[in-house]
Amino acid sequence: KERTLAIIKPDGVQGYYTDEIKEAILEWGFEIVQESKFQLDSERASLFYAEHSGKSFFQSLISYMTSGPALAMVLEKPNAISEWRALIGPTDASKAKISHPRSIRAMCGMDLERNCVHGSDSPQSATREILFFFGDVMLT
Ligand code: ATP
Repeated sequence: KERTLAIIKPDGVQGYYTDEIKEAILEWGFEIVQESKFQLDSERASLFYAEHSGKSFFQSLISYMTSGPALAMVLEKPNAISEWRALIGPTDASKAKISHPRSIRAMCGMDLERNCVHGSDSPQSATREILFFFGDVMLT
């Protein structure tokens, strides 16, 4: 089995999508190993998205991610990283509504930025991101 880091972003929490998203997670056969609701400040949000620090959308992304509480979860199942990415759909939620209408981003996202959920994109980022929110006790 593999673990990945999922986040229900502030727009997902504020839009009351948490229960619907968790239902989809369980229906898809993931175990929610750990979860924690938190409010990111801009320092921690910038650290989490450090790879995007030079991009034009960076400041907007940081204010979006600090706009309210979010819910981080450690999800587990075989191929959890790619399975969760498949379930959430493409980054641009407005496109997801057309190309992947049953995806989570189609359900609760708005556009390229406000896409309501996050998923680790590789084993390396899953390790880094699980450590970031939960520490090394959650790595295995
Ligand atoms: P995530 O890492 O959140 O799962 P992703 O891997 O699909 O999303 P990334 O390219 O890593 O997308 O971008 C991280 C986040 O930054 C996106 O989820 C989105 O909220 C925002 N974002 C990405 N590209 C843009 C853009 N061109 N304009 C505005 N926001 C963007």
